[in-house]
Amino acid sequence: MSYQPDEIILIKNGELALKGLNRHSFEDALMQNLRYRLRKAGEFTLRKSQSTIYIEPKNAYADMEEACDAVSRVFGIAAFSRARMAPKDLAAIQQAAVEYLGDQLRGAKTFKVEAKRSDKQFPYKSPEISREVGGYVLSHFPHLRVDVHDPDVLIMVEIRDFGAYIHAKQLPGAGGMPVGTGGRAAILISGGIDSPVAAYMMAKRGIRLTAVHFASPPYTSERAEQKVISLLEKVSRYAGNMKMHIVPFTHIQEEIRNHCPEEYFTLIMRRFMMRLAQKVARDADCGALITGESLGQVASQTIRALAVTDALANMPVFRPLIGMDKEEIVTIARRIDTFELSIQPYEDCCTVFTPRHPDTRPKLKLVEAAEAVLDIDGLVTEALKGIRTIEI
Ligand code: ATP
Ligand code: MG
Repeated sequence: MSYQPDEIILIKNGELALKGLNRHSFEDALMQNLRYRLRKAGEFTLRKSQSTIYIEPKNAYADMEEACDAVSRVFGIAAFSRARMAPKDLAAIQQAAVEYLGDQLRGAKTFKVEAKRSDKQFPYKSPEISREVGGYVLSHFPHLRVDVHDPDVLIMVEIRDFGAYIHAKQLPGAGGMPVGTGGRAAILISGGIDSPVAAYMMAKRGIRLTAVHFASPPYTSERAEQKVISLLEKVSRYAGNMKMHIVPFTHIQEEIRNHCPEEYFTLIMRRFMMRLAQKVARDADCGALITGESLGQVASQTIRALAVTDALANMPVFRPLIGMDKEEIVTIARRIDTFELSIQPYEDCCTVFTPRHPDTRPKLKLVEAAEAVLDIDGLVTEALKGIRTIEI
């Protein structure tokens, strides 16, 4: 006989149901992402029926804690529940409710039963199920009271095609749209606080990420690079697996430092980043770039400065943090657990040659003239040749 799990995960993708014609491709992407993310938690069967996804452990080795943790980070899920499965039989349901939610009920003062019967063959109507299960719970836990408005414990009973499911209040999902449904984009990732948050935010909109990182050894260390890898690993718990392209940037920075006016160092450097990131992005089938820039945060993030970098752009540049305060960004960084890593003090190529007096109102023509002394194409080609790619 096949293994009968007594606990499963139910995902009701209400948001996705709104997507009309695209609904099927959204659901398929969600299922595929879930399968991939669950692989470390054990073996599971995934089924889809009536806009609900059922995740059932295949054997007793599957780790439900880990599975729930993984599910809570998969975009495209508004809410999910861990549920006990029971035969479609009132006595079995009553007993399952008391057993499964016993710990919660013991510590509570009030409760409420909510029943939903999608299998109309089941001989009790929803209000009857609620009443019968509620009565049984009260007989086991006489200290409880029913509170229909604001119960400490909500007992949900769902009578569905394959069985009856008992669960408590739904757990919040990660929201957003399934990664992959929004296409691909390249995130310019540094070791700072902002770019990992920007990556997370765009992945949440359904974008599959490719990462581009500029490294300037020996000015930037191996450990600085390792820090970026660790940050991407944190991001990939939400965004899924991705490739990281590490672009050698030392020679370009030295050339800028040796031949260009100091007030334009950062801008010229950012223009090189733009040229290189776009090439990497095109090769990786990405339709846009993502950066962690936020208006006014530093000299290179004024409107004028952004215009000087964007003048080179031949694809959209997404800056999801553009209107956010540092505090708002930090809140998200803490939530996705990148903050502590980001504040570790390792150098970034941006901080290596920081001008003392950057121009905050640069003129494109002047910046173009300043960089024209460099062998731009030669430097770009050389950097592209030195790219290393790793899997995150
Ligand atoms: P962050 O916290 O993301 O480092 P920041 O506020 O420090 O951002 P900058 O250092 O000016 O700002 O960088 C702005 C953006 O440029 C970053 O958010 C990131 O997208 C990109 N960037 C900066 N340094 C690098 C790098 N070494 N490799 C790739 N992208 C980078
Ligand atoms: Mg930075």
